[in-house]
Amino acid sequence: MADTLVDRYQRRIEYVRLSVTDRCDLRCFYCLPRGYRDFETPEHWLTFDEIERVVAVFTRLGVHRVRLTGGEPLVRHDLPVLAARLAALPGLEDLSLSTNATRLARHAEALRRAGVRRVNISLDTLDPARFRAITGGRLEKVLEGIEAARAAGFAPIKINMVVMRGVNDDEVEAMVEFCLAHGFTLRFIETMPMGETGRHASDRYIDLETIRRRLARRFELLPGMMPGGGPARYVQVAGTDLRIGFITPISRHFCATCNRVRLSADGTLHLCLGQEHSLPLRPLLRDGASDAELAAAIRAAVARKPERHEFRERPEKVVRFMSMTGG
Ligand code: SF4
Repeated sequence: MADTLVDRYQRRIEYVRLSVTDRCDLRCFYCLPRGYRDFETPEHWLTFDEIERVVAVFTRLGVHRVRLTGGEPLVRHDLPVLAARLAALPGLEDLSLSTNATRLARHAEALRRAGVRRVNISLDTLDPARFRAITGGRLEKVLEGIEAARAAGFAPIKINMVVMRGVNDDEVEAMVEFCLAHGFTLRFIETMPMGETGRHASDRYIDLETIRRRLARRFELLPGMMPGGGPARYVQVAGTDLRIGFITPISRHFCATCNRVRLSADGTLHLCLGQEHSLPLRPLLRDGASDAELAAAIRAAVARKPERHEFRERPEKVVRFMSMTGG
């Protein structure tokens, strides 16, 4: 029987968001500055052996969900190899991926065979010119990736749209229609003041309640549910299978039911997305710590997990970019 990880607010930690690289092939303006090159050096990345060992320790502490994130996780070579090793770990029930899909067409089948079950894809616009303006990349690569994910049998495919005033908020209905037509699940996300870029984008912040009310004028929205350990609050469009999720860290945060921690590519355990509390695991791993010592260190760290973020009160607080912990 696996142990459990519970913090001082009686929140059970059962989910690890695992960033396998801080690098990305896109430069979304609310995440990474254009031309940014100051990434972590590969020798500081946890190796696949180290990642597998840390995740195995977490599964023995009751963690049964792992999400592969980045930066862009598919920038890390041989990601399907790592996925297969993690999927084989006893106690790991749910292995999923968050990606910008630019490389998914090449890897979808292999990831599926490796044991990745669900995929979340970032897509803020359906307009090629606007896509390039927001990300610096090419929309068609993402659409090819989405199609490959569908062909590989990923289900559900969740589309994540960061809604920004005066940037893409005029496309909300079109994104609903797109997901309706393709059978995807749609999630809207509020901007978060992560790093300078995130604070810059927060000038474009929209309270998603205004978006929900706008959609309710066009669609009959019913209370909805979705499997998965995430914070989204779902509605369902009446008469369809379309579920729309609202991820509202600013307007209606979900910290009271937080069930996760984040492990960054350099082996730093981040206890909260919106705070700087963390534990460097790489030195422990490379200094020969036993699994019991790793478990004790993780447990002690979780005991320090902050109650909540302070995105509203202290938006300047988090200096790291979203890509360093993968959201
Ligand atoms: S901001 Fe921190 S406490 Fe709140 S949900 Fe995110 S990780 Fe959990």
